Amino acid sequence: MKDSKKVVIVGGGAAGFFSALSTKEHFPHLDVLIVEKSTKLLSKVKVSGGGRCNVTNACFDNKELAKFYPRGGNSLRKAFEQFNAQSTMDWFQKRNIPLTIMEDNCVFPKSNDSQTIIDCFLKECISKNIQIKTQFGVQSIEVLSDGTFLIRSSTEEITADKVIITTGGHPKRSGWEWIEKMGHSIVEPLPSLFTFNMPQNPVSALMGNVVEETTVRIEATKLMANGPLLITHWGMSGPAVLKLSAWGARLLADKNYHFSILVNWLNERKENDVRLEIEKVIEGHGGKMIGNLNPYPMTNRLWNFLLQKSLIEPSHRWKEIGKKGVNRLVNILLNDRYEVSGKTTFKEEFVTAGGIALEEVDFKSMESRVVPGLFFAGEVLDIDGVTGGFNFQAAWTTAWIAGKNVGSID
Ligand SMILES: Cc1cc2nc3c(=O)[nH]c(=O)nc-3n(C[C@H](O)[C@H](O)[C@H](O)COP(=O)(O)OP(=O)(O)OC[C@H]3O[C@@H](n4cnc5c(N)ncnc54)[C@H](O)[C@@H]3O)c2cc1C
Repeated sequence: MKDSKKVVIVGGGAAGFFSALSTKEHFPHLDVLIVEKSTKLLSKVKVSGGGRCNVTNACFDNKELAKFYPRGGNSLRKAFEQFNAQSTMDWFQKRNIPLTIMEDNCVFPKSNDSQTIIDCFLKECISKNIQIKTQFGVQSIEVLSDGTFLIRSSTEEITADKVIITTGGHPKRSGWEWIEKMGHSIVEPLPSLFTFNMPQNPVSALMGNVVEETTVRIEATKLMANGPLLITHWGMSGPAVLKLSAWGARLLADKNYHFSILVNWLNERKENDVRLEIEKVIEGHGGKMIGNLNPYPMTNRLWNFLLQKSLIEPSHRWKEIGKKGVNRLVNILLNDRYEVSGKTTFKEEFVTAGGIALEEVDFKSMESRVVPGLFFAGEVLDIDGVTGGFNFQAAWTTAWIAGKNVGSID
């Protein structure tokens, strides 16, 4: 005889646990089972945010919050009306997990330890009698004639009245094949959040240099991002590059990660303003050596590197720079071109762009529009955010909504 009124959640990660807890919160009478393919639960939560778990971002305007998602922002904007960053903070604080908002709005547990979040979830699961089964890798889900589900691993079968899929992202399409077989379309999965490789570029000799306010553009596209830029021994990284990698994930994959970027080392300052500034330096300090008088917020090493790129001799005096020299310098300061060839994953904090096509999911309930009774939450969806707690926020929001709606079992 089959179990009745059972919700099975596939995937024991952030979205899996949160949807289980939400289900029990809204429908305490239901049996809830989480199945996880590996032996480890919440493994990404453990390593997230460098072991500190950046649980959300203190952006409390839903419209603004949605802007941090290169994919899925529109769908999430509505979903945030049900559960947003404030809801996340309230949820944890209600469970005696104090949180801290950092200067950059990233939110961490005050303990600075992701284990606090894991312990909270596990404790809640015990108190709510949520069952957990590890080493159960789902290989297929069949919809039975009565609309219930038969879930198969390589060795076992279980039944469910409703299913929430929270299997996270996979860089390879094969991870989604069994969901595709249920009738869902998969938007081609690709990595997001990576740094740019510039093999053999002399700029890498300046590794460790950070310029706090830059704008980086992908040449011949409209893609641009601003923020700090970090020079590394393999190329460029830092928030500006990571944001650009997220917004450009699909386009850059199409280019096989071979493209050019234009760096504006002075952020969004306009050409005329920069010219005026340089003229003032020439007027006021014409006798000083160009290499020694650096008018911009960057290290002297980087300044001298940019002078050399502008074919300006650092030992010359400012008054000797000449009109052509000024033109070349302004151009390098505002449009410094680098060839990118390849990518490197940022501290392994990659997320997957792509996944379950969003138009096939009703974001009011997170229920599939293709298979009634099937729900989705987390990174398995074609949703991804930039760094800063946005990816977990998407997981909490979609999981909370799925749990709130999965219980309407006839
Ligand atoms: C190193 C690292 C650090 C990060 N740090 C942050 C951060 O600080 N803040 C932030 O917002 N985001 C961060 N992210 C992103 C964030 O971790 C993910 O977006 C989030 O974990 C997604 O949650 P999820 O539950 O959807 O997927 P996951 O956490 O990936 O969980 C999916 C689970 O499903 C299981 N599973 C998969 N297939 C099956 C199957 N067929 N059967 C059964 N189980 C299955 C997997 O084993 C896994 O346990 C980080 C990511 C990484 C890799």
